[in-house]
Amino acid sequence: MRRIARLLLFYQPGTAVGFTRQQQIHSSFTAAARGITLLEHMKTAVYDHPKSSSRRRLARQACAFTAFAAFAVCFLLAPQWIRAQAPPSAGQLRIYSIDVEGGQSTLLVAPSGESLLVDTGWPGNNGRDAERVLAAMHDAGIKRIDHVLITHYHDDHVGGVPELVAHVEVGEFLDHGENREDAADTRNNYATYLSAIAGHQRRIVHPGDTIPIDGLSVVVLTADGEHIGAVPGIKPTPNSYCASEHAWPDDPTENSRSVGILVTFGKFKFLDLGDLTGKKEVALVCPNNPIGTIDLYLVTHHGMDWSNSRAIVDAVHPRVAIMNNGAHKAGKPAAWQIVHDSPGLIDLWQLHTAEDSDAAHNSPEWLIANPKGDGDGHALKVVALPDGSFSVTNTRTEVTKQYSRK
Ligand SMILES: [Zn+2]
Repeated sequence: MRRIARLLLFYQPGTAVGFTRQQQIHSSFTAAARGITLLEHMKTAVYDHPKSSSRRRLARQACAFTAFAAFAVCFLLAPQWIRAQAPPSAGQLRIYSIDVEGGQSTLLVAPSGESLLVDTGWPGNNGRDAERVLAAMHDAGIKRIDHVLITHYHDDHVGGVPELVAHVEVGEFLDHGENREDAADTRNNYATYLSAIAGHQRRIVHPGDTIPIDGLSVVVLTADGEHIGAVPGIKPTPNSYCASEHAWPDDPTENSRSVGILVTFGKFKFLDLGDLTGKKEVALVCPNNPIGTIDLYLVTHHGMDWSNSRAIVDAVHPRVAIMNNGAHKAGKPAAWQIVHDSPGLIDLWQLHTAEDSDAAHNSPEWLIANPKGDGDGHALKVVALPDGSFSVTNTRTEVTKQYSRK
């Protein structure tokens, strides 16, 4: 039995963190093969050994190794197979932060299969961003998107709509209404959007509206420069971080008009404010914070430093943050530092290494979906449960980290 104990110590199956699925399957096969080889040696020894007491001892060891080989195959390999076959959505909210190279496209799929896509990435690139949305839909096992929310009319958010509607059935589009930015590009983005969604349902949302998704609460916090005073079920509380917040300039761009949402799934909360900029962030949470605390924060504005004021980031107290920056887009050191230092933050995941920043303002590589350059398109996938626990998977490495319930 000592030998078995040594063998078990030698063979340490892949845990959820640090080993890919393929590595776990491979190591299970290796363990099974090792057990069977040892069994064969034992069998030979049993029949060759002259003393009956030794034969009995060896026979016992052979039985134990057989049991070990069965354990390796049945308990280590089989669950992998069962997981692969089982419907992945049972009781889970899945959130995909899709890599659109510094834009936003975030897919939420409720346990019911009902879906919300927040923004669509960039135009052009031979439909690259629609393809990446389709890849996330395929992973989630859905064939249509029920709601597409456009946070604002910059091309890294609304630009992918024509390609999306060419390839994906969409239930309805939601947005903040008229374009408010006096710039030729943004006017053009808005006109292109309106023509692309012709024939689809469109609904203009306001702070306090909800987006009805079976099993989720999705509340609009901000839209068209306005914000909510109180979220149903959350008591606004004085925000102690407002006193030290500096003044932020007016922002006449569409960023300040971003639709921001709070998604609640049981005890799990996710905040996505699009590209909302500092002055509107502070208006939303000062003097009272109507959001409370959250589990997952989509770092606002891809980690630009004219968003992510301390007054909001510290007040909402995220446990985990995902920054949807590009290799050379956003991911600014000051914003990264504020999110990184926010009280209670466990991990800051990034879609890309911020290559114009430095090592001190980038997370360790295992937390980064695309460490080098543009083009790889790896997403970060979140799976949340109603008890508030959730996991984040880096689809490049298949490393998953679990975060416990609160
Ligand atoms: Zn943006």
